[in-house]
Amino acid sequence: MIKSVKTVCNLCGLCGCGMVVTVQDGRATEVRGDEDHPENRGVLCAKGRAALEILHAPDRLKTPLKRTGRRGEGKWDRISWDEALGLLAERLRQVKERYGPEAVDFHKGSGHDLCAGDVRPYLHRLANLFGTPNLSSPFFICNGPRSLNMFQMTGGVPAPEVENSQCVVLWGINPTETAITRHMRIRDAVGRGAKLVVIDPRATHFAKQADVHLQPRPGSDGALALGLLGVIVDDGLFDREFVTKWTVGFEELRSLLADYPVERVEQITWVPQDEVREAAHLYAETTPACIFLGNALDQHTGASQAIRSITALMAITGNLDSRGGNVIYSPCSLAKNPVALHDRLPPEMAAKRLGNRFPLTSFPFTRIAHTPSVIKAILEEEPYPVKAMVVMAANPALTSANSQEVVAALKKLEFLAVADVFMSETAELADLVLPASTFLEQTYYATYEAGAYLKPSRPGLLMLRPQVVPPLHESWPDWKIIFELGRRLGYGEYFPWQSIEEAMDYELGPVGITSDDLLDHPEGIQIPGPSFLYQRFAKKGLWGKFMIGLLNRTVFRKYPNMYHKYRRMGFLTPSKKVEFFSRQLGELGCDALPVYRESTESPLGDPGLVDSYPLVLTTGAKLGCYVHAQMRNIPSLRRRMPHNVAEIHPDTAAECDVTDGEVVLLETPRAGVNCQVRITEDIRPRVVQLYHGFAKVNANLLTDNRSFDPITGSVPMRSSLCRILKA
Ligand code: SF4
Repeated sequence: MIKSVKTVCNLCGLCGCGMVVTVQDGRATEVRGDEDHPENRGVLCAKGRAALEILHAPDRLKTPLKRTGRRGEGKWDRISWDEALGLLAERLRQVKERYGPEAVDFHKGSGHDLCAGDVRPYLHRLANLFGTPNLSSPFFICNGPRSLNMFQMTGGVPAPEVENSQCVVLWGINPTETAITRHMRIRDAVGRGAKLVVIDPRATHFAKQADVHLQPRPGSDGALALGLLGVIVDDGLFDREFVTKWTVGFEELRSLLADYPVERVEQITWVPQDEVREAAHLYAETTPACIFLGNALDQHTGASQAIRSITALMAITGNLDSRGGNVIYSPCSLAKNPVALHDRLPPEMAAKRLGNRFPLTSFPFTRIAHTPSVIKAILEEEPYPVKAMVVMAANPALTSANSQEVVAALKKLEFLAVADVFMSETAELADLVLPASTFLEQTYYATYEAGAYLKPSRPGLLMLRPQVVPPLHESWPDWKIIFELGRRLGYGEYFPWQSIEEAMDYELGPVGITSDDLLDHPEGIQIPGPSFLYQRFAKKGLWGKFMIGLLNRTVFRKYPNMYHKYRRMGFLTPSKKVEFFSRQLGELGCDALPVYRESTESPLGDPGLVDSYPLVLTTGAKLGCYVHAQMRNIPSLRRRMPHNVAEIHPDTAAECDVTDGEVVLLETPRAGVNCQVRITEDIRPRVVQLYHGFAKVNANLLTDNRSFDPITGSVPMRSSLCRILKA
């Protein structure tokens, strides 16, 4: 029997591309893009096209494995799920009895990886019931700094409305490699004549066709943003009415900008002052204009204030929440039943969350422990010991900064369990490895929040991601692992669901959409109304639900496009305005203004070190064929980029006396790796770019996990000092 199943790709978490899978006699045989899907319109990237290769990969984990040899020795016994869950529950209970529940850290990866869906709220539920405040993740180096700081400053997340924009700014983002649907949207905008500004030390696909391409020194984005703001203010290009009515701290910001004339900005950022002026004028004078912020901005010690300065650019030019600018939406806005049960965690335990000194960890929509603080707690037992970790769909041994330390910490744990699709570098160090299913083997749903995916002005969509084939081998979906472990630990009444559909029906109850509804509508169901209002009404109990229902049926259905929402209700910040000056941040001991502070390890931050390490290393540029450390084992993808390389400019190569393809020693103050150099004009001189996620040439051996962004705890993975020596 042959059938076609429509589903949603979950391999990168950025696009949610629609795909159609042909299933013949129970086996998935072909995959293609769904031409009816509003996002990808039939297109799949290389990873999506390899979905069946991943599903059928011969090296998938097939059964639970229990370590028999020394840690990392690779000796395993195959065991049953019953034995595996029994062992896992017993060891977690032992650690809890001996050291307290906080000695267990649950660690969840991106949630959009090979395992399906973002079931993080269910893992949070389990952690809260268990009594540990520690559920860590890479959020603090992923989109955490961007979403938190934009939210803190504007009360929402301003998403670029490319479709209606006349000028698109790409800042530290390369959607050609990371997000095919965003690439398509930008390509279309450029095709119809929108101006393009790219800010990136590398000459990416879009940089090569940009009207202006700025190539700042990695880590200096905050100074560059202040320079752009300074030009806009000095040249009177700002929206006076908006600034007067809707911002707090403009005069303080103006004083700060006086310290960043373009001459100084050039010295800090290495961007010629004429280019700073040109970019500022192009952005401010082309209306409307929007900015895409990328992950490259997240991974610095000055990440937060740089992001705040860039958000100030949107506000000061009147491009905030306006058509074709950056339109505000609220994350996590669907009024669902509260799955995570944060109220079950006693406040005194929540106060012990590792990394609590960073506001990000306790922010209402995060409550996520800080991974480097977890690593420190394992190694140094400060402020208390962490003795066990349960890792789901993550590979911190390779993806977290300072891999030597991370691996040492994982080895020191009394118990480590890892659930994943393949044997990862982290799983190799585990006591127990659990085989997880891919997204094609389990049902969940995809949320297309307005703004996060679709045109921000368009209402969002909920779409079913149905199971295409039953789980292969003895793999289990993530949700099943969490639910069964919850029951084993004695929380059966909180995990009453026997299927994910039952759980989804509970979760989506207040939204009024069931799993059957989603099954009946493979094209998706509109989430009615601009989602930011859900946040506001969701807190108002029955009255709020009534209002949501009423608005859904009336205003939102008729007028989905909502700009300038602040004119009716103010911004959802303490002052109801955009906060250039944040009293809240000041009270937390952080800079209230978006002050630029040089990272300690930079040519200007430590002039002594720069004599020995004269180059700036940035790691983590994305490759279209991989997601972080995943998929290196998939032949069709691996062929595209089998080995890591360090990219350098011909001038840098000449200074270091190395030739293209030569193997060199690339060193930071922490460590060195032997790697091949690729000489290319596509990167600015004095900068070295090394990809992350390769086990043999691991970029994170070189990165620092002891210097932090004070707001989010982010680490400088994109801005270290380094040198190149003959190997
Ligand atoms: S961009 Fe690629 S990996 Fe991401 S959802 Fe689309 S097809 Fe899947």
